[in-house]
Amino acid sequence: MKVTDHISKSKSTLFSFEILPPIKGRSINSIYESIDPLIEFDPSFINVTYHREEFIYKTRELGYLEKISVRKRPGTVGICSAIINKYKIDAIPHLICGGFTREETENALIDLQYLGIDNVLALRGDPVKTEKEFIPKNGGHSYAVDLVKQINNINHGNLLDTEAPSDDFEFCIGVAGYPEKHIESPNLEIDLLNLKSKVEAGADYIVTQLFYDNSKFFNFKKRCKEMGINVPIIPGLKPISSLSQVKSIPKTFNIDLPFELCDMLYNAKNESEVNQIGIEWCINQSKELIKSGVPCLHYYTMGKSESIKKILKKVF
Ligand SMILES: Cc1cc2nc3c(=O)[nH]c(=O)nc-3n(C[C@H](O)[C@H](O)[C@H](O)COP(=O)(O)OP(=O)(O)OC[C@H]3O[C@@H](n4cnc5c(N)ncnc54)[C@H](O)[C@@H]3O)c2cc1C
Repeated sequence: MKVTDHISKSKSTLFSFEILPPIKGRSINSIYESIDPLIEFDPSFINVTYHREEFIYKTRELGYLEKISVRKRPGTVGICSAIINKYKIDAIPHLICGGFTREETENALIDLQYLGIDNVLALRGDPVKTEKEFIPKNGGHSYAVDLVKQINNINHGNLLDTEAPSDDFEFCIGVAGYPEKHIESPNLEIDLLNLKSKVEAGADYIVTQLFYDNSKFFNFKKRCKEMGINVPIIPGLKPISSLSQVKSIPKTFNIDLPFELCDMLYNAKNESEVNQIGIEWCINQSKELIKSGVPCLHYYTMGKSESIKKILKKVF
């Protein structure tokens, strides 16, 4: 079922979560172990992230450096299919521009359609670590809006291969939104204009980057409305689980942590207290967001569902 149908059929706030494919070589059981504890809370859908290749350099004979492509977390589509099969819950693969030509994207969408997957989260992807800025694959998309346009074209019966019949595609398209703006964007206005372009290109709903200050989300929602962005906006949440994240989260996600939260975390006696503070903060955020009428709460589990379970017990 489409995410938008889940939302329109529900009278109360839904719950969904995101998982990462396991590191290459690990069993799919690690995925099931992170999903199982959350099933009792009746998730409406489960997102599975996509990780493109990374490059490493190996020294060869005579000191030559060989650039080698490594895929650390392959398997997004297979995992989605396994989730649908095992749990009968909608699984949403993330699809990115990076590393894909338009033809490869089209073929990936055909695979998803064969598997009965109705939803995709369309993203650009980050630049690979060895590049200063995002570089699309030759013949690939530079921005998520172009990927959304391609999916929307397919939904309207237009494959790149114009000879091929295409009458059965109806993907519900999600895109990313950034309450504290995307790192590359000069300001929130420009980022919102680009977000609006994704919606005008056919995006059906927005999932946000994580945030710890609900007022940032409420402001983002208000600004979206003022700009005429009227699709559902799903807030993304992740509890802080270690003191080191006070430094790493703002850097990785380009977001601020509220002073009050940092103050509590710095004064915690140990990591277990840090974890508890993170859980309580997320519970309070969740309750306030539900009260404000958000359609769904989306949790970033990062493969660790114990904290999310504690939060869900208090919130749903
Ligand atoms: C909910 C969520 C899930 C994610 N899942 C994954 C994942 O599974 N795998 C992964 O690799 N990454 C993932 N990411 C990270 C995401 O790929 C990065 O944040 C990436 O840098 C931007 O992706 P985007 O889709 O927002 O890009 P875009 O919407 O293309 O925006 C990227 C930047 O370009 C600007 N921009 C957009 N259009 C234009 C234009 N036409 N001209 C000029 N500037 C423009 C935007 O303002 C923004 O600054 C996720 C992020 C979120 C919020």
